[in-house]
Amino acid sequence: MPCKTIGIIGGGQLGRMMCLAAKAMGYRVAVLDPTPGCPCAQVADVEITAGYGDMGAIARLAEASDVVTYEFENIDAEALAFLEKRAYLPQGTVALRTSQHRVREKTAIRDMGIPVPDFAPIADAEDLARKAFYPSVLKTATGGYDGKGQVVLETSGDLEAAARALAAGECILEKRVPFDMEISVTVARSVAGETSVFPVAENVHVGGILHTTVAPARIPAGLEARAVDAALEIARGLGSVGVLAVEMFVVGGEIYVNEIAPRPHNSGHYSMDACATGQFEQHVRAVCGLPLGDARQLAPAVMVNILGEHMDSNDMGNLAPYLPLLRGGKLHLYGKAEAKKGRKMGHVTMLGDVEESLRAIGATGIWGARG
Ligand code: AMP
Repeated sequence: MPCKTIGIIGGGQLGRMMCLAAKAMGYRVAVLDPTPGCPCAQVADVEITAGYGDMGAIARLAEASDVVTYEFENIDAEALAFLEKRAYLPQGTVALRTSQHRVREKTAIRDMGIPVPDFAPIADAEDLARKAFYPSVLKTATGGYDGKGQVVLETSGDLEAAARALAAGECILEKRVPFDMEISVTVARSVAGETSVFPVAENVHVGGILHTTVAPARIPAGLEARAVDAALEIARGLGSVGVLAVEMFVVGGEIYVNEIAPRPHNSGHYSMDACATGQFEQHVRAVCGLPLGDARQLAPAVMVNILGEHMDSNDMGNLAPYLPLLRGGKLHLYGKAEAKKGRKMGHVTMLGDVEESLRAIGATGIWGARG
């Protein structure tokens, strides 16, 4: 049965868009986030301002909610154990725990027979010196996002720079993949085990942060089918409930999974405007036990992120740079109080002819040469 109040752990843009989708369907929303007036709290019914490790606050959220979900992935083990016992967390904790640790994540996916880039767990500097290979990427095993905590190793001369990542604790060393393209697949799986897949998205990252998504990805049908199969197999294998995104590298017609996110994902934002059902609505349906919606794409889409450096921090209400895009596109701003470099402030989704959309985005000059 549909439930009344959805509790969301984490109140950033993902929580906000999840909340807006839930509100459209008549749910109430409670959010837990450390920042007062966070993007989700601006549109939620109940705001609990507290750290993610505050067990009292987690208990209050569980108490206020009929179902609990999350946008924040680094919920600690104690809070997860509490939620498992004392709240209704239909997503469970397996997919989340797997995605929280890059070695666990890559091992689980490889064990399903799905290719991942070659990797080795790295305990410390000595271990790195012993196992190092090149070219490679050293990443912190936990806590990294948007390319944070990553160091590229071209030669042994880069080993010293790796100290920064290693200082944060356990790491993973991955083969640096000379990819032709990055793609992602967003799937949904309901409490009842029903699955649905959004069209494969083609992603460009700049400095480790997603810049642009083109959907559907411009890849051959065979490759698309393999990417979809891999994502569904991962969702089923982890018993995932809700939306799960799988990021992959395409190299010479083969796919290698880079990482998973057991929640709606930036590369799936296009679905909000381009598909019959958006990823946030799909997530709400999945965790609330409703039938999944139609994930068919109704128009080709290009999504481009608006980062802190793309906004005038002295005049964040100045939408003039984005106005030329609004004829064929949709503007989403997240209500963040301060524009900082690399911070995701919003996105624009252009619908219709992809080449034309890319040209229109480029012509604004906002995103520089990459636009
Ligand atoms: P991640 O935090 O793992 O999603 O990495 C952010 C971005 O860094 C990816 O989307 C890629 O553009 C790049 N990257 C990460 N891992 C690798 C790798 N093993 N080989 C090549 N590029 C990578």
